[in-house]
Amino acid sequence: MTHTAQVAVNDATIHFDKLYTYLIPPELADSVWPGSMVLVPFGRGDHPRMAVVLAVGEEETPDPRCKSLLDAAPEDARLTPDLLELVQFLKERTFCTWFEAVKAVIPYGAQYQPGRKNGRPCVQSRLTRPTERRYTLVGDLPEKPKPGPRQLAAVQALREGPLTQKALELLGVSKATLDTLCQKGIVKAEEQFKSLDLFADIPFDPRPLTLSPEQQQVFDTLLPDLRDGQPHAALLHGVTGSGKTMVFLRLIEETLAQGRRALVLVPEIGLTPQMIRRLKSTFGSRLAVQHSALNNTERLLQWRMIQQGNADIVVGTRSAVFAPLQNIGLIILDEEQEHTYQSESAPRYSAHEVAKKRAAMEHSLLVFASATPRIETAHAAAAGRLKKVTLTHRYGGRPLPRVDFIDMRAELTSGNPREVSTRLAGELAENLKRGEQSILLLNRRGYRTVALCEDCGQSLQCPNCSVPLVYHKARRALLCHHCGHMLAPPPRACPQCGGKLLYTGFGTQKVEEELQTLLPGARILRMDQDSTMQKNAHEKMLAEFGRQDYDILLGTQMVAKGLDFEKVTLVGVLGIDSMLFGQGFRSYESVFSLVTQVVGRGGRSALPGRALIQTAVPQHPVLQLAAGQDYNAFYREEIAFRKFGLYPPFCAFCVLGFVGVKEAAVLTAASRFAALLAENAAAHPDMPLRLLGPVPMGIAMLNNKYRYKITLKCRNDVAFRALLRQTLDAYGQEKLPQKASVIIDFNSDGEL
Ligand code: ADP
Ligand code: ZN
Repeated sequence: MTHTAQVAVNDATIHFDKLYTYLIPPELADSVWPGSMVLVPFGRGDHPRMAVVLAVGEEETPDPRCKSLLDAAPEDARLTPDLLELVQFLKERTFCTWFEAVKAVIPYGAQYQPGRKNGRPCVQSRLTRPTERRYTLVGDLPEKPKPGPRQLAAVQALREGPLTQKALELLGVSKATLDTLCQKGIVKAEEQFKSLDLFADIPFDPRPLTLSPEQQQVFDTLLPDLRDGQPHAALLHGVTGSGKTMVFLRLIEETLAQGRRALVLVPEIGLTPQMIRRLKSTFGSRLAVQHSALNNTERLLQWRMIQQGNADIVVGTRSAVFAPLQNIGLIILDEEQEHTYQSESAPRYSAHEVAKKRAAMEHSLLVFASATPRIETAHAAAAGRLKKVTLTHRYGGRPLPRVDFIDMRAELTSGNPREVSTRLAGELAENLKRGEQSILLLNRRGYRTVALCEDCGQSLQCPNCSVPLVYHKARRALLCHHCGHMLAPPPRACPQCGGKLLYTGFGTQKVEEELQTLLPGARILRMDQDSTMQKNAHEKMLAEFGRQDYDILLGTQMVAKGLDFEKVTLVGVLGIDSMLFGQGFRSYESVFSLVTQVVGRGGRSALPGRALIQTAVPQHPVLQLAAGQDYNAFYREEIAFRKFGLYPPFCAFCVLGFVGVKEAAVLTAASRFAALLAENAAAHPDMPLRLLGPVPMGIAMLNNKYRYKITLKCRNDVAFRALLRQTLDAYGQEKLPQKASVIIDFNSDGEL
C-alpha cells in the first residue's frame, strides 16, 4: 500500500483548479493529514508550490507518474476540520479557488511559503513568531570572587521570579552581566514566544447589567434559543440609541455562563475600539481581536490565542468570521446592513452566509442587529425564517432627533455659493456657543472632486481607467482613486478641445476649509480615509472627540455609525443627493440607512438632538422616510420595488465579470460565456434564470484592462451552481483567441 494525498495548489484560476494526487514519502507519513499545508513539485519544471491537502488515501498501484510531496508545514498550520469545512463552503458558494479560500481563513502570518534549506526545497513560515529571552535563577552567587554590584542586583531581582531581558534592562541590568551569570550557571536563559496584551490599558470594571423592560423582553425572547443547543437565527431590530449593545452584553454573559464562546462582528475598524472597551471592562481579558488594522504579528498572536483556546470572546471585522474559535454559542453581526460584510475580492463571500454556516455547524444563536436591517434580512424575518425581536424606544425614553430639510436650490438662488448652507452655519454657531458638539456627514473625501471642461462638458479622465481624476489640494495634483495615476500640476485647459477647465464638486477637505472661514473659533476634526491612514488613528480621534477636544466632527460614512457621544446635539448631512441617484439596486437602501444612522448619532443622552439634511430634492420619498426614521414604511415601499423589478430577495443577483487587455477579445469571451450558459440552461427549462448582457461595466476600463459584465437573476441553489460550474468548465475548454479572466460575484448590487 502506498499513501497518497489529494491536494489543491496555490495560484490556480477558477476554471483550472483541479485536485492533484501526490505520494506521501515515509518521512512525512505522520505530518500529512486533510487540512495540512504541503510543498509539492508542480508543472513541467517541478517548481515547488504550496498546496493544501484535501484528502489522504491508500492506493495499491499508484500512477507511476505520481510525484512525491517535498515537505509539510507543522501541525499548527493545519486547517482544523471546522476550517476545512469553511474552505469547502467558500469554494462551493463563491466559486473561488481552493487556495483563495485557504488564504481567507488563515491570516497571512500563519501561512507558509516555499523556501530552501541545505539546498533542498522546504516550507518556510511567512512570519517568524517574535520571541523574547527570559531569565530564571538556578543557582547561588559564589562568595569568591566577590560578585559585583550589577550581578548582585540581577540576582536580587530574579529572586522574585523569572524576568524578561527587557524587564531586566529597565532595572539597569545589562545583557553582558546576564551573559556572565549564565556562563557561571547561576542563571538560565530561555527563548519564549512573546505575548502581547493589546488592551492592557482598559480596566476590568464589571458592573451589573441591568436591562430596561423592553431590553429585558428581547433578551427573554432570545434566551431559550441560546440555551437549547440548537442552531437559531434572529433579527434584533432596534432604533438608534435603544441599547442593542446592552442586549449583546447580557447574551454574551449568558453564553459564557454556559461555558460557551461568543463571536462579535462589527462592520468596520472604527467601531472595534468602542466594542472592545465595553467587552473588556465587562468580561476581562480573555478577549481577542481580528481585523486588518493589526499588523501581521499582532494578528497572528491574537489568532494563536484563539486557536489555543485562550479567548472566550472574539471581536472583529468581516474576516473574523473565520476565527478558529471553538464551541461558539453566540454569533452577533452588529450593523448587519453594512456592505463591508461582503468581500469585494476573491473569495467574494458575505459574512452573513458564513456566519449562518458556522451557526449551523456549532449550534449557535446567530443575531443580526441593526436600526435599518437589510431588506433581505427584514424579509427573511417577515417570512418567519428569522426570529424577530424589536426595540422601539430609545433607552431612557429619549426622543429621536427632530429632522429638517434645507433646500439647496433655494440656497443657490439666494446667492450662497458655499456648500454649507446659511441655516446649518447658524445652527453650528449656536451649538458652539452652548458648548455642545456637532457631527457632519459628507460621504466624499478630498478637496474638489473633478475637472470639467466649460466648452466640451467632458471631465478629465484617468488614461488607464474610465473614471474622472480627482483634485487633491495637499499634493497639488489630480489623482486616480483606482490606479494612482497622477497629473501634476493640475492643467488649466482641456486636453481634448483646449477649453477652460472648471474645478467643481466638493469633498471633506473643502468643507473643512469653509467651516474654518465661517466659524473661526471652532475646533474641527476631519475623519476620512486620508486623515485616518496612521495606525490607531480612528481610536485616537474618536477618543479626542469624546473628551470634547473638538466641537465639530466632519467625515465620511465612518462618522455615521455606532458612535455614542453624549454631547452631540446637532447632526448635518451634506451631499447626499449623488448617492440617492447612484447606480445599483441598493442605492435607496444605502441612503435610507446612512441618513437614519447619522441622524441617530444626536441626542443620545440628556440633551435633545436635531438634524439638518441639505438636499436639492427635499420631497424625495426616501429622504422623507429617513427623516421620520420610519423603517417599516421604507421597507414596504422598497420590498414592492424589489418585487416589481425582480431584485433580491426575490431572486439571487449574480454578476459575472470579464476582464482583459483587448476590448474585442473581452467582449467575445463574455458573449461566448453567455451563449454556453444559455445552451446549458436550455436543458433545465424549469430553472428560473434571466441573463442580461454582456455590457460594459460602469467603470469600463480599470488599470488599462477592459471590463464587461453579464448579470444573472437566478436562484442560487445546488442545481444552479452546478450549471454555472459546468459552464465554467466548458468555457475553460473553449478555443478563444484570447481568454478573459472571469469574476463571479453573488453579493454585488450591479457593479464589480
Ligand atoms: P444602539 O446600539 O442601539 O444605538 P447603544 O447600545 O449605544 O444603542 O445605547 C445607547 C445609550 O444608552 C448608550 O449610552 C448606553 O450606554 C445607554 N444604555 C442603553 N441601555 C442601557 C441600560 N440598560 N442601562 C444603562 N445604560 C443604557
Ligand atoms: Zn486610473
